[in-house]
Amino acid sequence: MYQAKAYAASSSSSRLAYTTIQRREPGAQDVQIEILYCGVCHSDLHQARDEWNSVMPTVYPCVPGHEIVGRVTKVGPGVTKFKAGDLAAVGCLVDSDRTCPACRAGLEQFCSNMVLTYNFPDKHLGGVTYGGYSDSVVVDEHFVVRVPANLSLAGAAPLLCAGITTYSPLRHWNVGRGQKVGVVGLGGLGHMGVKFAHALGAHVVVFTTSESKKEDALRLGADEVVISRNANEMQRHAFSFHFILDAVSAQHDINAYIQLLGRDGNLTLVGAPEKPLALSSFGLIFGRKSVSGSPIGGLAETQEMLDFCGEHKITADVEVIPIQKINEAYERMVRSDVKYRFSIDMASLKTE
Ligand code: NAP
Ligand code: ZN
Repeated sequence: MYQAKAYAASSSSSRLAYTTIQRREPGAQDVQIEILYCGVCHSDLHQARDEWNSVMPTVYPCVPGHEIVGRVTKVGPGVTKFKAGDLAAVGCLVDSDRTCPACRAGLEQFCSNMVLTYNFPDKHLGGVTYGGYSDSVVVDEHFVVRVPANLSLAGAAPLLCAGITTYSPLRHWNVGRGQKVGVVGLGGLGHMGVKFAHALGAHVVVFTTSESKKEDALRLGADEVVISRNANEMQRHAFSFHFILDAVSAQHDINAYIQLLGRDGNLTLVGAPEKPLALSSFGLIFGRKSVSGSPIGGLAETQEMLDFCGEHKITADVEVIPIQKINEAYERMVRSDVKYRFSIDMASLKTE
């Protein structure tokens, strides 16, 4: 074991603050990574504040962070994919059983024994796993992916959650040319959804509550922007969408979007608000529409997404912050004031 620097929440109402944590020494299959950047996901905030208590209660201290990029500092003797000095990335998953049908299909995100990067039982050290708001992490090489060399590291970090979480459902629902695709909520996930749907050739419509994001939405790849509070603007798109990706972090009316779907259209929820959303069955029945959800993505698809980003030169639009600004960043995230992902420069942790 060795000591690492980190930022943690010590209760649901406390600000994140500097602390030290224990990390395991790299085992045979492990990769030790010096963390250079870590993206700030709204899930970090949900969990630091225990907003998902009914599904996955938070164990404190909680070290969030699952959008990790860094440099390999040490590898175990059994590691074949990485060597010291390589760039490497870690997302939301750090383990799974590797034997179940989901794992064998490369869909580790559906493994019933998966281990998330933070706030999940840690079989090595006991307690729970600690995430990327830290200077170092040790992860089995199966859960470590490669970052294309042409991408900025600060902008690549958010691909590890915001990227894969939007890429995976767009691919699953075969989004592409000739399709009208909606993206609801222009935050970290939403802005990646826009970039991917655009790159896949779809006609992209952004739904936002923030007038001020209109220009940005078009720059990011949207063909049209709808201010979702305007009922007339919404009505103009009734019954016209093939697919809608909903990346909203708070309570909102999903029925208003279901009525915009065409026959057999699908709305996939990736946003995970604290409280359940109301669903009108009539909205689904007339048009044989469906609503589904989608969690992150498996390791093979995460690598595919990163390679796609390398090829299409896609990264997140980031505001780089020192770790000392994390509490302010959370407050701004609650106000939808992020353009469009905070990325923590982990060099700032050296001064603690
Ligand atoms: P974010 O950057 O804070 O973006 C959320 C966006 O939702 C905001 O920018 C805002 O967009 C919109 N929004 C916020 N409050 C709203 C309200 N009251 N009514 C309508 N729209 C509202 O968050 P994120 O990091 O992208 O995460 C989004 C959600 O996805 C979170 O719940 C997060 O936990 C979840 N998530 C799920 C997965 C998964 O595996 N499924 C993975 C990662 C994150 P506008 O300003 O454009 O309206
Ligand atoms: Zn996330």
